[in-house]
Amino acid sequence: MASPIHRPLQPMTDFAATKTLFHLPEGVIYLDGNSLGPLPLRTPDRVARMLKEEWGEMLIGGWNRAGWMAQPMGLGDRVGGLIGAEPGHVTLGDTLSIKVFQALAAALAKTDRKVILSDSGNFPSDLYIAEGLVGTLNQGHSLRVVDPEDVADAITGEVGVLLLTQVDYRTGRMHDMADLTAMAHAAGAICIWDLAHSAGAIPVDVAGCQADFAVGCTYKYLNGGPGAPAFIYVAPRHAPTARPALSGWLGHDAPFAFEPTYRPGEGIARMRVGTPPVLQMAALDASMDIWDTVDMEALRSASIRLTERFIEGIEASCADLTLASPREAARRGSQVSFRHPQGYAAMQACIAQGVVGDFRAPDIMRFGFTPLFIDENDVEAAIDVIARVMADRLWEDPQYQARGAVT
Ligand SMILES: *Cc1c(COP(=O)(O)O)cnc(C)c1O
Repeated sequence: MASPIHRPLQPMTDFAATKTLFHLPEGVIYLDGNSLGPLPLRTPDRVARMLKEEWGEMLIGGWNRAGWMAQPMGLGDRVGGLIGAEPGHVTLGDTLSIKVFQALAAALAKTDRKVILSDSGNFPSDLYIAEGLVGTLNQGHSLRVVDPEDVADAITGEVGVLLLTQVDYRTGRMHDMADLTAMAHAAGAICIWDLAHSAGAIPVDVAGCQADFAVGCTYKYLNGGPGAPAFIYVAPRHAPTARPALSGWLGHDAPFAFEPTYRPGEGIARMRVGTPPVLQMAALDASMDIWDTVDMEALRSASIRLTERFIEGIEASCADLTLASPREAARRGSQVSFRHPQGYAAMQACIAQGVVGDFRAPDIMRFGFTPLFIDENDVEAAIDVIARVMADRLWEDPQYQARGAVT
């Protein structure tokens, strides 16, 4: 049964109020919420309550009494509310790489065509998963990777599945989801949209665009915390027949009947695999209490104001930085990237000065703008810090050259 969507009638448009709901360390301007969203203030209590009152007191009874078993669908609907999904068609669990695998395997099972089309701006894990699946199937499938600007022209009659990430993790360039989905359908292909940098960043309407499958993660813009579960959407027209490649017991129609053979669960429930990560679900529950109230159109307007001002301020003060993101706001997600030949060291110098963004090889300095906790004052302060780092060539200091495992 579909659970109700919790979105209020009067969504939140006041982002000064949402800023007070997050823990932001002193002296830090956090422009990396696109990579790992910050901690909502209410999360530690919610997680502590799960540990003490649910796990501690209820023990195994928590699966029923605390609703742990129902969380992947209940929270799935709340995430679904942010991406325009029909209720009852999103579930949570595993990591995004796993959800890409599930969506791609189910999509390939629906077509006789052998070509998967993606673009070189896609996140490597999505491409690696496709490569791995092509090899495992060993049925003559191939992965065709084209330049992001050439995707539309590459949607030919050979393409079975179009696998795209809507917002490019490096540059923030945004595909037109409605247009490309319509083109793919006209050519007889199935569309999978990765919304890793879309969910909580821009308004998305998977149902309106008639996306076939969509996937994404909840630890970036949605503040679910490191290791938070990923989501998968399967369009209602596909859900009853989608073939689950990872046929785990919790995607079975009757997990507690312990039947010796697999029968897929109803609709999206079959995309569940194994035991849900209950601690992570508790953390996500707390952040979704905030997200349930957010007006995504107001958030998008605020994000555009912030990114426009950031681009203007950086271009006016940092001649060494070259804009890597589309200049036109409508073609960008909620991040801005600049190129610099010493981008890694330059970003380390910015971080040391309190402006936290991140670096993506080979030369991209990436800054995420999340209006729930970043405002105009933060943007002005960040511009000043970055301008000083560039003017004083702070990045030349050898201490900023040494790379950590995570950049
Ligand atoms: C962040 C991201 C991932 C990460 O996948 P995990 O399995 O959660 O580590 C995958 N794809 C895209 C497009 C991403 O942006």
